[in-house]
Amino acid sequence: MKQYETVIGLEVHVELSTKTKIFCGCSTEFGGAPNTHTCPVCSGMPGSLPVLNKKVVEFALKAGLAANCQINQHCRFDRKNYFYPDNPQNYQISQLYLPICHDGWVEIDTPGGSKKIRIHEMHMEEDAGKLIHDEWEDCSLVDYNRSGVPLIEIVSEPDMRNAEEVISYLEKLRCMMQYLGVSDCKLQEGSMRADVNLSVREEGSGTLGTRTEMKNLNSFKAIARAIEGERERQTELLEEGQAVIQETRRWDDNKESSYAMRSKEDAKDYRYFPDPDLPPVYISNEWIEEIRSSLPELREEKKQRYQDKLGLSPYDAGILTESRHLSELFEETARLCGNPKKAANWFMVEVLRLMKDKGTDPEEVNFTPKHVADLLKMIEKRTISPQNAKKVFQKIFEEDLEPESFIEQAGLRIVEDTGLLTEKINEILDRNPGPLEELLNGKDKVSGFFVGQIMKEMKGKADPAGVREALNKEVEKRKN
Ligand code: ADP
Ligand code: MG
Ligand code: ZN
Repeated sequence: MKQYETVIGLEVHVELSTKTKIFCGCSTEFGGAPNTHTCPVCSGMPGSLPVLNKKVVEFALKAGLAANCQINQHCRFDRKNYFYPDNPQNYQISQLYLPICHDGWVEIDTPGGSKKIRIHEMHMEEDAGKLIHDEWEDCSLVDYNRSGVPLIEIVSEPDMRNAEEVISYLEKLRCMMQYLGVSDCKLQEGSMRADVNLSVREEGSGTLGTRTEMKNLNSFKAIARAIEGERERQTELLEEGQAVIQETRRWDDNKESSYAMRSKEDAKDYRYFPDPDLPPVYISNEWIEEIRSSLPELREEKKQRYQDKLGLSPYDAGILTESRHLSELFEETARLCGNPKKAANWFMVEVLRLMKDKGTDPEEVNFTPKHVADLLKMIEKRTISPQNAKKVFQKIFEEDLEPESFIEQAGLRIVEDTGLLTEKINEILDRNPGPLEELLNGKDKVSGFFVGQIMKEMKGKADPAGVREALNKEVEKRKN
């Protein structure tokens, strides 16, 4: 059998998190009652005129510079003409001839090391409205709230070879956009959407095979399954000596198969032409440099800094920087408790555990770093036992409560009254003459039994190290 190679290029749409739409002042907020975030411009009324939102250009520049792109200092908008009910103007304002950013790259991790994925271009465009197909009545409704929400479309070169690379690339883009603060990139809400272009060719071939484009992919898992399904379908066709037809296919994740949606249209089908309502955009060198110098620390740099300055392992540094939001909570906690390694440990074990148990998205973790730092300090000072600290942390994670007063109220503070502790220890020693005899004869293992008993009696309000110490003291006394 011949060996085949899969070739994949992605078109990724990212909704920008500007407050207002790209060509009008309507809110971009997700949801809202249908058609409440609309005006004559974004619902395509005759006579209305678009005005470019400068923030959109700024966000596109940030994304482009972070992805090592060249900038078209003179760029402009073009009309992409087509009819569809979610597109009220009968054209979409996009960029074809002079996209704002081009020829960049990002680096992804693969099992074989890091790999560069080239970016052909990034262009600005407006999003379309949303059709709602009524399940009970035979009608479709349209909501224009999303119409005119700014997008950047990021077009890669066909540099990916399998689903893992595709997911890695998407994760990279998502992380980058989130760090830059230009998009929340939520696949579920559609603020990040990927179209997968895929072809198969004989291994070693220098030319590209005929590709199909798959739309309607709204999770990483669906993307991975769609890639595998399409790879198989095309390979079978080639094996049978049949041709792959260039077309747009829709992936049905429930049926785990794709079907042809329409034959692939070409740019020329859309009769693109420069939009006469919008003047060309000029981007000065000063503006580019201003944005370049104000780019935030991105994940890779942060990861390196955590290793160099905070002494964290590459693994921990990697996990803690996956989400900018989580990394900020961690850093503030580390700063306030003065012990980055302790803070990192707590995040790696307790925070991640609760996130996993509760299915919390990193972006939704919401506690005050000072509360965690205070708790860590109390563990350090032995004001609270590690077991109880975990319980308190769960409360912080869920309700962001203030630990000190909670510990007080719940009576979780470690008893500092050494008198009470010694009393309990002696009671327990007296109650267990057999094990005590063994302990006095040097059988140290038995001390574990006593520590357990004492901890139980103290109801977790004693810390094991302190108990062990006090126990040794009392046992020593009895040796004499
Ligand atoms: P169009 O604008 O018609 O969709 P483009 O040439 O802009 O086509 O390519 C769109 C995407 O398809 C790009 O990400 C590109 O890398 C990818 N692509 C193009 N040709 C192939 C191919 N033969 N196999 C896989 N991907 C491809
Ligand atoms: Mg395309
Ligand atoms: Zn509007």
